[in-house]
Amino acid sequence: MAFGLGLLNGLKYTATRVFKTYVGDFKHLGRRYDDKLFKERQSVKGSGIFTVQYPEEKLPVPENFRVVPFLVYEPALDENGKPLIDPATGKEMIGKQKCTACGICSKVCPPQCIWIVRALTPEGKPKPQPAEFYIDIDICMNCGSCAEFCPFDSIKMDHVYELANYERHVSHIYDIGVLSKPASYHAKIHPTDWAAEEAERAAKEAKKK
Ligand code: SF4
Ligand code: SF4
Repeated sequence: MAFGLGLLNGLKYTATRVFKTYVGDFKHLGRRYDDKLFKERQSVKGSGIFTVQYPEEKLPVPENFRVVPFLVYEPALDENGKPLIDPATGKEMIGKQKCTACGICSKVCPPQCIWIVRALTPEGKPKPQPAEFYIDIDICMNCGSCAEFCPFDSIKMDHVYELANYERHVSHIYDIGVLSKPASYHAKIHPTDWAAEEAERAAKEAKKK
């Protein structure tokens, strides 16, 4: 092979890729971040440069992707059985926390980053619900053991990964307000897990009848 031909071949390959990227951009003008198109460009059919233009572009995460845990709550319902929405936050209002404050998650957590305070009745007796619930998200190693061992399906692993902040001592100690997310959110990000839980619940109900 003539001297330098390999180098030229390499440059030709790179230049073709760059050119195809611009062709693709013009071809899909205004639709670059369209979900369907993005998937196509990231698939084997895609051409051009494959770099994900984060944060404008984000790759979809798999269902079992794990970052930090969240607590699942059942929403408060209106007279038609629809979830009540808090106008201040736009979130579904809390009807009932699924968590019973049993403490299993905090016992099995390898780095011990879960802290739970159980609620009390006016007579001072323990109630099966948490008054406070904290997770230090910088110590959490995203193992998912808490979600795995929870007997009430009330703690699940979230997909949100953009957690950077300017300090950690306040904003990275997630309290019950930050950790709580509605069951509809769990159903949305974990459809397979949710369907299995619903099937199990329906089977238990049917057994009781
Ligand atoms: S294991 Fe589940 S029910 Fe028990 S304290 Fe943890 S989240 Fe709550
Ligand atoms: S994911 Fe693992 S480390 Fe994080 S809170 Fe749950 S058990 Fe602890």
